[in-house]
Amino acid sequence: MSIKLSNVSKYYGSQAALKSVSFEVERGQIVGFIGPNGAGKSTTMKIITGIIPVSEGEVWINGIKVEEDSLQIRRLMGYLPENNPLYTDMYVREYLLYVAGHYPVKGNKIERIEQIIQETGLGLESHKKISALSKGFRQRVGLAQALVHDPEILILDEPTSGLDPNQIIEIRGLISKIGKEKTVILSTHIMQEVEAICDRVIIIRKGVIVADGKPGEIAMNAGIDKETLLLEFDRKPDSSKIQEIHGILKLKHLSDTQILVETDPAKDMRPILFNFAVSEGLTVLSMQKREMSLEEVFQELTK
Ligand code: ADP
Ligand code: MG
Repeated sequence: MSIKLSNVSKYYGSQAALKSVSFEVERGQIVGFIGPNGAGKSTTMKIITGIIPVSEGEVWINGIKVEEDSLQIRRLMGYLPENNPLYTDMYVREYLLYVAGHYPVKGNKIERIEQIIQETGLGLESHKKISALSKGFRQRVGLAQALVHDPEILILDEPTSGLDPNQIIEIRGLISKIGKEKTVILSTHIMQEVEAICDRVIIIRKGVIVADGKPGEIAMNAGIDKETLLLEFDRKPDSSKIQEIHGILKLKHLSDTQILVETDPAKDMRPILFNFAVSEGLTVLSMQKREMSLEEVFQELTK
């Protein structure tokens, strides 16, 4: 197991920011960590990287207890903090060399930095001062500094926050590429980001993990899955009769002839609804299944 948290709690004074959080991340996974502001994402990430101590519980990285060998932990881990603090007076290359000075880097440091500059697409900007870079390129420098020592694990706290849509896609592509060889935990507020690049999503609310699973299965895992069918008839159906059908949980009219029904997920209601239409002399013009989106799951679990 790459990362393991066991009953981790964190108190800031009397306030509990994390309450008995447990999860494990396997090597090679890209995990999306989502939750409303103040839910405890950054706190969890700082605990994993060993920057702040737990109040209760234990954290292991590759079987090493974080508080017991913080030097070894830092070598294993690359971290991009929230808001990506950089020394803006430094030049890109100079800054990366400075960061590399803090780690035992395999081989030649200068060569390693050139390699990282290429990998993160900083080539044309690498001679500039960090203060002269756009937000997207600063974010690349943030990723580069996290990668300098070729860590096995990457902890990225809102890596795409504040970027424009094109920059988001570029950084996301970069994370996907890097993530092929590493274990990654990234926090974000963008659900499509999780759907696009994560194998797994963990949802946290008020310091408690409320869901954990594959993005497409998270509703089922959290026990809040429901299936929705969108139906269109040739004329207005008698909705009270539809509502009486066993397995129909909720019905909503979108127009006279279009309805949205929430159905029992354990049962395929499509043949039943089709037969109902036939018995009523209605023609079904269309019937579409709609799964709960991650957005809907998130809202349901964190409201
Ligand atoms: P998130 O990253 O999900 O927005 P944080 O981990 O930053 O959440 O914060 C979780 C909770 O802990 C919040 O209520 C926040 O105010 C509180 N908190 C975070 N850092 C500190 C700190 N250094 N001192 C006091 N409270 C803090
Ligand atoms: Mg945060």
